[in-house]
Amino acid sequence: MDTTFDIVVIGSGPGGYAAAIRASQLGFKTAIVEKYNTLGGTCTNVGCIPTKALLDSTQYYHTAATKFAIHGINLKDISLDFTQLINRKADVVKQNTAGLNYLMSKNKIEVITGTASFVGSTEIKVSRLNEEPILIKGTYFIIATGSKPSTIPGVTIDKKRIITSTEALSLTEKPKSITIIGGGVIGVEMASIYSRIGTEVTIIEYSDSLIPTMDREFGKELKKLFAKNGIKVLLNHKVQGTVNNGDTAAVTFLDTNNTLQEITTDYCLVAVGRKPYTEGLGLENTSVKLDDRERISVNEKLQTANPNIYAIGDVIAGPMLAHKAEEEGVFVAETINGQKPHINYNLIPGVVYTWPEIASVGFTEEELKKQGKDYRVGKFPFLASARARAAMEKDGFAKVLTDPKYGEILGIHIIGPRAADLIAQGIIGMEYEVTDEDMFRISYAHPTYSEALKEAYLISSGQGAINI
Ligand code: FAD
Ligand code: NAD
Repeated sequence: MDTTFDIVVIGSGPGGYAAAIRASQLGFKTAIVEKYNTLGGTCTNVGCIPTKALLDSTQYYHTAATKFAIHGINLKDISLDFTQLINRKADVVKQNTAGLNYLMSKNKIEVITGTASFVGSTEIKVSRLNEEPILIKGTYFIIATGSKPSTIPGVTIDKKRIITSTEALSLTEKPKSITIIGGGVIGVEMASIYSRIGTEVTIIEYSDSLIPTMDREFGKELKKLFAKNGIKVLLNHKVQGTVNNGDTAAVTFLDTNNTLQEITTDYCLVAVGRKPYTEGLGLENTSVKLDDRERISVNEKLQTANPNIYAIGDVIAGPMLAHKAEEEGVFVAETINGQKPHINYNLIPGVVYTWPEIASVGFTEEELKKQGKDYRVGKFPFLASARARAAMEKDGFAKVLTDPKYGEILGIHIIGPRAADLIAQGIIGMEYEVTDEDMFRISYAHPTYSEALKEAYLISSGQGAINI
């Protein structure tokens, strides 16, 4: 095997594999080093893809159980095969990792399985299972080692009863009950999966809202919808500790009166954020520096203090999102190639795959208020959408925030059916700085969910909606 490359990528998540593919397309001799046996990183193996597979399966089940009869479809004895649910998820992951093997070979990228550790700024040692370590030289390195679940004081993750999202995606039996610490993105997606199949779910969140970093109206709306589905949400509650009782997990916490309470459920899922992963990377043998939150420090070119070493994705600052990592992978490959790529960080969408879905881009109302910026609001409820009524998907709204002077779109926030896909059109509008008027003076197919956005643009512009 060749051991000298133009570009060596460490980590094969969405950041790493996108970087490797773009580098190879640009003519660089490229290698990718991955410590796990499969490619794809967190996203493909234990993140985006398996959660969406389980979210889809459980959504079908829940819809069949709760809505089919209203549609006039009567199913007798509907039941859930939990093992098959998990097996299908595993199969979806397998299809995706196999797809990545194909892409690596199609793009002639050398895949090296093993753990990379810098021995100097132009060389890594790759430790391999049952094989001698190898030394790999690179002109450039791209660190894309991602992140790992973090925890809080008093809570020790044992992966048995006190678990992370990784274990929650591969349980062998349907849990009767689960406590989720953290009502962020992982917390609300996992709560959706398990509540839909009849698990009793309690979320304990430290802040005063679910998904607190997004538009505040989302948290309120989601809490209402979760209550309808039997999910218990405890806000402003402070977890004190957890205990593995063998076949259950106990969580102690202070309620809003500062009274100590305890809840015992089959599992406790810890979803309080993730931390950058740099363990064992040998950064001490380079000039690469970490910031105060242990993320790799990079400049605007995503270059570390070692000019030939770049870093991307979850291991650096910014939202921990697969599409952000991917953009950065392409950005770095093109930068090394002498191009001048650009990432508009303000226009990276955030999506939460609850049902209805939540999607957001640009500024929130809270951020605009903080900046002292004037803005107009156009808000349209899906209840008033003919498409949503036909589909029995009337929950949620589309909200656009625009600049009062020229109508420039400042933020788009949607909670509603297919919000994850709807947000894309708004991002195009924002990237090219079109106005709310530009956005409503184009034709939207009827009846579609996208008409809710047209109505929101009509309202924000001051012209007024057609359908409310
Ligand atoms: P990762 O995907 O974390 O990949 C890093 C890779 O580097 C890993 O494979 C690791 O084994 C490897 N590695 C680490 N150290 C070494 C070493 N020394 N040598 C060799 N290899 C090494 N984001 C979204 O945008 N949409 C979603 O729907 C979504 N859902 C998620 C659901 C869950 C449950 C979780 C946990 C995350 C989710 N995310 C989602 C976040 C997303 O997974 C991450 O933002 C994304 O994977 C980051 O990509 P990355 O390339 O930076 O790192
Ligand atoms: P998060 O930052 O989204 O949420 C963590 C939550 O835990 C916050 O609401 C926070 O207030 C709460 N919290 C913190 N300390 C607490 C405490 N002591 N007690 C109770 N609650 C506490 O993190 P996450 O949900 O673990 O997700 C990790 C990362 O993975 C996120 O950055 C996210 O972007 C990414 N992710 C993305 C998607 C998606 O794009 N759909 C899905 C899953 C995960």
